[in-house]
Amino acid sequence: MNIPLTSHPRVVIIGGGFAGLSLAKKLARQELQVVLLDRHNYHTFQPLLYQVSTGGLEPDSIAYPIRKVLKDFPNFFFRLANVETIEPEAKTILTDIGSLKYDHLVIATGSKTNFFGNASIKANSMVMKTIPQSLNLRSLILQNFEQALLKSDLNERNALMNFVIVGAGPTGVELAGALAEIKKGILPKDYPDLDIRQMQINLVQASDRVLPAMSEVSSRKAEIFLERLGVDVWKDVRVTNYDGETVTTETDLCFKTATLIWTAGVEGATIKGVDSKELLVKGNRIRVDRFNQVEGLENIYAIGDIAWMEEEKFPHGHPMMAQPAIQQGKHLGENLIRLTNGKKMKPFSYHDKGSMATVGRNKAVVDLPRFRFQGVFAWFVWMFVHLFFLIGFRNRVVVFINWVYNYIRFDREARLIIRPYKKKEVAEAAEVKNV
Ligand SMILES: Cc1cc2nc3c(=O)[nH]c(=O)nc-3n(C[C@H](O)[C@H](O)[C@H](O)COP(=O)(O)OP(=O)(O)OC[C@H]3O[C@@H](n4cnc5c(N)ncnc54)[C@H](O)[C@@H]3O)c2cc1C
Repeated sequence: MNIPLTSHPRVVIIGGGFAGLSLAKKLARQELQVVLLDRHNYHTFQPLLYQVSTGGLEPDSIAYPIRKVLKDFPNFFFRLANVETIEPEAKTILTDIGSLKYDHLVIATGSKTNFFGNASIKANSMVMKTIPQSLNLRSLILQNFEQALLKSDLNERNALMNFVIVGAGPTGVELAGALAEIKKGILPKDYPDLDIRQMQINLVQASDRVLPAMSEVSSRKAEIFLERLGVDVWKDVRVTNYDGETVTTETDLCFKTATLIWTAGVEGATIKGVDSKELLVKGNRIRVDRFNQVEGLENIYAIGDIAWMEEEKFPHGHPMMAQPAIQQGKHLGENLIRLTNGKKMKPFSYHDKGSMATVGRNKAVVDLPRFRFQGVFAWFVWMFVHLFFLIGFRNRVVVFINWVYNYIRFDREARLIIRPYKKKEVAEAAEVKNV
């Protein structure tokens, strides 16, 4: 890998997401050699992926080069690599570009889509965890309308204009809201010769409310917002199968659709070597102690979505969100510095700052630890928070300008089929990388 040997202990971090980057920044300029590996050379701001999928933002504005984040730190090395195996006994990792020894290893690989073992849904649905996946979805949505225009068979045309989103967590809700906005403001202008009123957006949820991780009042309000936008919300409905044409459920309900978008769950993105049953808990997350140390493995830590840490207030682990990942990354950084200075590590405690989701123009719901609010003010708070946490000054400016432009003009100009979506090629590539 062409990493020089030094007298400083080597910390290897797998994953340049929220957790991995906040840890790497903390370790900069320390008496440590820091090697960060990621299969992408950029950090992805996942909370805005849905805007890329629906043409509201260009992908570049929510991605940031990892090398640039850490360019001024002499002890930092980045390598573009897919980590395939960890060998704890040999203190070595194996990747597609070679192997590397570590003194401390930090697993910050985040999560991947969980299909709960359903092969038909995995094979036929669209997902949205990475920028390439969001671009696939953007292309497919637009390709569907181009095709619908050419269909004389009404059933085929309607199936192309029927979008089924499974999972009404923040991702499903935000995507449904954005699709409804496009239906209202953009598609009738782009496709005057198609009856866009036939477009359907179905949001299907297995439990009895949307946004189940938020307060009841926010759930109720979000559902009202969605219905006002024309989204059909189906609760207490569990999807069982999708063969590429028909979605079946445990009830009598079924949908004829060319597009099923699966946002119903995630699981830890584990790596061979630390994926044994003893190390993992529900959702394939790695059990760690309060110091983020993987239980039973020396000098191996896990942070962010992949880590399952139980606290009194969080007996089922921390939520798989950006804040726990950022806070754990920073905290582990402080602990590793303490360790190299011969001091004791301090236990981690999650500071819950709340959660929020937007449903569309002027509509959002916010749950803070002490306050809850919904509507226009919540929408402004949502925008401010997302701009604040977006990495890179240029990205913040570009996103802000885009939002102002889209708001004033009721527009989303990135509705481009740059790279047409080809299902077979994409499925094969995903299989190789295990994403
Ligand atoms: C569509 C969507 C919307 C979201 N919205 C919100 C929101 O509004 N608010 C919120 O708080 N959270 C949101 N989340 C969740 C949030 O993005 C995650 O909790 C957060 O990204 C977790 O950070 P992480 O560092 O653990 O993992 P990630 O940010 O996922 O980073 C993991 C990194 O590891 C790399 N990687 C994985 N495996 C390997 C490997 N084998 N080899 C090399 N590199 C590897 C990946 O390429 C990636 O860069 C959303 C997530 C999604 C998908």
